[in-house]
Amino acid sequence: MAKVAASFRLNERMFQRLYSYAEVRNLHLEPSAKCQAACPMCGRNVAGGRPRANLPLNEVTLAEFVAWFSPAFLRQLSTLTFCGNFGDPIIAQDCLPMLEHARRMNRRLHLNLITNGSARPASFWSDLGALGAHAHFALDGATEETHRRYRRHTRFGTILQNAATFMGAGGRATWDMLVFSHNEHEVETARTMARQMGFERFVLKSTTRFNGPDHRVLDDDGREVDRLHPSERFPAPALAARPDRQALASCPIRCKVIPEGSVYVAATGHVFPCCWLGAILHEKPGLPDSRKSSAVHQSFHELVGRVGEDRLNLRETPLAVIIERYLPHFTRAWGPGPERLMKCAQICGQVGIDAFTSTYLSTDQFRPSGNPAA
Ligand code: SF4
Ligand code: SF4
Repeated sequence: MAKVAASFRLNERMFQRLYSYAEVRNLHLEPSAKCQAACPMCGRNVAGGRPRANLPLNEVTLAEFVAWFSPAFLRQLSTLTFCGNFGDPIIAQDCLPMLEHARRMNRRLHLNLITNGSARPASFWSDLGALGAHAHFALDGATEETHRRYRRHTRFGTILQNAATFMGAGGRATWDMLVFSHNEHEVETARTMARQMGFERFVLKSTTRFNGPDHRVLDDDGREVDRLHPSERFPAPALAARPDRQALASCPIRCKVIPEGSVYVAATGHVFPCCWLGAILHEKPGLPDSRKSSAVHQSFHELVGRVGEDRLNLRETPLAVIIERYLPHFTRAWGPGPERLMKCAQICGQVGIDAFTSTYLSTDQFRPSGNPAA
């Protein structure tokens, strides 16, 4: 029995060991912190209004991309995902050249792009499709009217047109729909449209970002212009079962990105194991528009302070050094105690409900993954 327990502890320790630089297989890059849209629950703006003042509007250039990620590193990857916390990848000036460079370095690389899809000329979308990329288009309804209530300042018709151009050139596309009370009646129509247009998948998602019965939507001057309500037909399971502080303080943490060998790079150049940690970098006490300091933010900022913020930045430190020398500090802060990274407990704590995967309500796969012509 003691032997079994010891081997379990050993496995747990090995599971928690951070990957080495040579073991990284997935790179999640935020090419830009800029966006033309104003989704009311996005961390980049104040409830759909003006951009938050604490957010640096950085962008990664092609020159930086080439300098940060060596040909050997790009060749060892299986997936390169362009997404992020605060911006849309298609807004980055060098979005396409960076993907083209990655494709030249690695013919088998899975290029993934999460986007609102509502910008750029047709040539951008056909060039992107010709790279064999997989784009996830945010289409939150089946009509312009419902779509734009959440995906503010984007155009439903333009996105469909761009998606069609992209798929026509060889790109693979997923229709991602975020469901609310105002668009739940359009789910079936949207699903049918996705299948008929040639999307590979239709994914229905809910959000965990309601902090009450509704969510106010503001304009740039802070005036309320709308209110969003959660869907009753498609409720978010995570909303109904939020773990308490005590459970988060002591639960085991099972990191989602270690088994995938995935690393996150923000548009500021900062490197973290995942985007959930990158999302709270700018929540600094005292900065205008920073969220109220909580144990989640505090434990993170204390750790970043101990490591040194510049040491985590590719504009100061090479990727291999960050991964091998500085990122392990994060995995060492998962035990119970005053230095525990509460964000990790919130996202990956074993508390009976997975706040992340439970936002995925259903997936319809219309054609075999990775084979658009099938
Ligand atoms: S499209 Fe994405 S980055 Fe832009 S505001 Fe919406 S959620 Fe934020
Ligand atoms: S939140 Fe922490 S434990 Fe979860 S994936 Fe990120 S680094 Fe790993």
